[in-house]
Amino acid sequence: MAKKKRLSKNQVRRVQSNQNKRLTKNENKQWDESELGPQLQGIVISRFGQHADIEDEKGNIERCNLRRAVKSLVTGDRVVWRAGKESYHGISGVVEAVHPRKTVLTRPDYYDGIKPIAANIDHIIIVSSIAPEFSRNIIDRYLVACEDIGITPIIVLNKSDLLDDQSAKFVDQELQSYRDIGYKVLYSSMHGDGLDDLKGAMKDKINIFVGQSGVGKTSLLNTLLPEVEAVTGEISEGSGLGKHTTTTARLYHFADGGDLIDSPGIREFSLWHLEAERIASGFIEFRKHLGGCRFRDCKHKNDPGCALVAGVEAGEIHPARYHSFLRILETMDDAKNARNRNPNTY
Ligand code: GDP
Ligand code: ZN
Repeated sequence: MAKKKRLSKNQVRRVQSNQNKRLTKNENKQWDESELGPQLQGIVISRFGQHADIEDEKGNIERCNLRRAVKSLVTGDRVVWRAGKESYHGISGVVEAVHPRKTVLTRPDYYDGIKPIAANIDHIIIVSSIAPEFSRNIIDRYLVACEDIGITPIIVLNKSDLLDDQSAKFVDQELQSYRDIGYKVLYSSMHGDGLDDLKGAMKDKINIFVGQSGVGKTSLLNTLLPEVEAVTGEISEGSGLGKHTTTTARLYHFADGGDLIDSPGIREFSLWHLEAERIASGFIEFRKHLGGCRFRDCKHKNDPGCALVAGVEAGEIHPARYHSFLRILETMDDAKNARNRNPNTY
């Protein structure tokens, strides 16, 4: 077994930079047809530069080059690849094509516009907690993002061990309002409560964890996937290319079935700019009311004849959701104004 040791952040950075240099040298290897085996199916575990680690159908991971025709490849992509008859400087094959994506998670990028960060995610697990604070607004922002990209959200109330009778009653009432509009809600704790249900919900799906800082995402991940921590902080000595230790997204398998894609970039995924109409339809229970406003350009605020306000008054829309909607609109305006002043920031 390769010996493992912990590295400081600086050391990790240096190793990465050497590793990238070494990888760059190999980039030009072009395989002849005769050197390649038949087409195989695989899934991208991790992508970095001109290479990707591809898991084959037997569960082996092969480091591959990418054909030039492969324009975009991210963790979670399903691919067609071919193994080289011999591996070359640790590169075992080539990715030839990418299957159409079921879903894609993106983030804004100043240079590239919109940049994909992971593909084929089935569930976004929105982790919330009463500590540091229970925030409906943050949950709502994630729900809107999920609805907009078409990925099923699951709301998890983590640190359930911290609930006393009073706070349990409070959050249960809050969370019931999400169940009422059709969302799945679970409780969890890194100490074990609810983990079987959570694992059950994630089984046979590709999942990601998102949520405000401090709600316990990292602790939950380390409980569910003890090997994740090992991969982010350690490299193995002696293997030609070293272990890949950058912040790129990586796909992990749960022991009980199902996958998790994780990286700091994914955990920080959030709602970025959307037009007001898309925000409104990201509130699923608003949909049947939208279009019923008296004025076509209704801002759903103080406008006479607003169908959303009527929905709140009729008890069909939870007032907290309506206020959350208004707050999200305001922060979008603020962000837009800030961007106009300084276009280098998103
Ligand atoms: P992240 O920022 O969402 O990744 O949150 P962390 O995993 O870093 O956790 C933040 C803090 O909450 C740490 O001090 C954890 O020990 C604590 N914490 C995490 N999960 C739980 C839990 O289930 N119960 C309790 N009581 N504390 C937790
Ligand atoms: Zn309206």
